[in-house]
Amino acid sequence: MNIILLGPPGAGKGTQAQRLQQECGMVQLSTGDMLRAAVASGSELGKKAKGIMDKGELVPDELICDVIASRFDSGDADKGFLLDGFPRTIGQAEMLERLLDGRSRELTAVLLIDAPDDEVVRRLSGRRTCAKGQHVYHVEFDPPKHEGVCDQDGSRLIQRDDDKPETVRNRLEVYHEQTEPLIEWYEEKGLLRRFDGQRSPDEVNDRIRATLATKRLEAEL
Ligand SMILES: [Zn+2]
Repeated sequence: MNIILLGPPGAGKGTQAQRLQQECGMVQLSTGDMLRAAVASGSELGKKAKGIMDKGELVPDELICDVIASRFDSGDADKGFLLDGFPRTIGQAEMLERLLDGRSRELTAVLLIDAPDDEVVRRLSGRRTCAKGQHVYHVEFDPPKHEGVCDQDGSRLIQRDDDKPETVRNRLEVYHEQTEPLIEWYEEKGLLRRFDGQRSPDEVNDRIRATLATKRLEAEL
């Protein structure tokens, strides 16, 4: 099972990725994690990436692809992978395709978890994070007992910059412009499956697992 998770920020991709990883044993490949790991390993690739990131520049597609390729070749994703956050552009999708072709591997499905902009803004901008620990709340869906204070340790709750409404709107704009064209691209290849990110995480998970079970049966026929 080689899966790509697609969709706007805040639609629940991360949650589903975690659950699929736990339930189906797929290796989750996040480009951020892979880049950090490459840098930590001190490999040639890692040194190149570090130089670019230290300057605050965006890591070029070619380098990200090299990092993904080296991960494929390490063998730990032989049984299947789950890509979350990559590809984000048609250019990246084309590179990924060449990379997989060259290894006689193919995508099983592209899972689109979708949600309207207003819902995304409501979800993300209502998020409050504990200044001390990892505790996360939501002013509307999961409020703390006392406003602005963490239930667990009494720390102050803050709104991360990433969750500020104007930042969320900007991220959505980038998504619509650069990433959304991938929906049609993968649809034409017959790989796209749609899921309603406004449903509960359990429901979305059930539907994804049903879809993957069907895919598995098809593959065995
Ligand atoms: Zn806390």
